[in-house]
Amino acid sequence: MNRSSTSIVRAAALSVLLLLPGCSGSGSVSPTGPPDIADTTSPPPGAPSPGTSATARPKPESPSPTPLRTTAAKTATCPGGECLTVVLTGDLLLHEGLWEQAAVDGGGQLDFGPMLAAQEEYIAPADFAICHQETPLAEPGGPYSGFPAFNVPPQIADAVANLGYDACTTASNHTLDAGTAGLNRTLDTLDTAGLEHTGSYRTAAEAAEPLIVDTGEARIAVITGTYALNGIVPEFGWQVDQLDPAVMIAKADEAREAGADVVLAAVHAGDEYADYANAQQQEVAHALVDSGRFDLVYGHHSHSVLPIEKYNGVWIVYGLGNTIAAHLTPDIRNTEGLLVEVSFEQDDDGGWQGAGIRWLPATWNGPAHRWCPVAAVNLEEMAALGTSCVSTEADAASRQRSKVTVESMGAADAGAVEWQGQ
Ligand SMILES: [Zn+2]
Repeated sequence: MNRSSTSIVRAAALSVLLLLPGCSGSGSVSPTGPPDIADTTSPPPGAPSPGTSATARPKPESPSPTPLRTTAAKTATCPGGECLTVVLTGDLLLHEGLWEQAAVDGGGQLDFGPMLAAQEEYIAPADFAICHQETPLAEPGGPYSGFPAFNVPPQIADAVANLGYDACTTASNHTLDAGTAGLNRTLDTLDTAGLEHTGSYRTAAEAAEPLIVDTGEARIAVITGTYALNGIVPEFGWQVDQLDPAVMIAKADEAREAGADVVLAAVHAGDEYADYANAQQQEVAHALVDSGRFDLVYGHHSHSVLPIEKYNGVWIVYGLGNTIAAHLTPDIRNTEGLLVEVSFEQDDDGGWQGAGIRWLPATWNGPAHRWCPVAAVNLEEMAALGTSCVSTEADAASRQRSKVTVESMGAADAGAVEWQGQ
């Protein structure tokens, strides 16, 4: 939702958390998946900790090579009546290169706005937009750390909120990289930025409350879980939602009893830099769909674009890739991600049914780490303007790589389309 007061005005009643009794499902340990160390990058020696400020800052202006946009904001339409749009993005993974760029963009203060600015036209119009905060957030001013135990600049939270995101999931293999203090600090920071969150918790009571966000049109619940915690044992079992379909299904039941109209599952799992959904991902996603409790299953963690599948009438987005990152690990797939919009249409009984899905391929592999869409329509626009994300050839190759992967499990035949505007 756009909270920056410009084009779209929605009288959304945000942040309706419905207290539920008796949910103690969080914290069950998944029997599946080795706790490997993911999100690899090599920390550069002597990485600086630029000066920072925790104070609110004005909307960023982009001095960047972000390509000029010629299309207006695009929102989905449903064939019939009321349409609800949900927009998803993948890991926010702040490697050192991004802090350094944010310091350049902010003139010494850390400003992540310019590198993500091109997302706004896709994020702001959504009824509900959700990101994934992969790592702990540090105190303003640091100290910061990257791989393997992340603790990253908290200024990212304001940047994300300013784009129009409503919420972030926080259950990942890095959730406890900075211990309980880091987990708690991250949630405090998201609260201050005005972002809802779920997946990690400061108290047992907080863990027992499914996240339900009221958009003004529908109440959307998000249930999440991570496949591992990189071998770290939580101080309390309820601190992080781990990947257990039975627990997730029970939580979805509770969310529906509490009034949720649409229930999303966010699965943090997968093989790094893969272009396929692994066995665990498929088994978990199918179990969640087969329960009949979920309207959408999506995932992140692999740092690469993964397929989209329609399974028993429900969309599964196996992997969104990153929202932004700067891996030093040389793999082209970790420079690409998806921004996905799923639309739901209201039926005569007031319920919401899945209606369509659009996927937008993007890269941030060009100058200054700018997030940059590479759908066919974007390639045409950039050709007309004489701009590119990376280069004309690299952009086209990136788009083609994502398209082949997204469609490798029958998504196109099932109705998934590339985000091309109206
Ligand atoms: Zn991860």
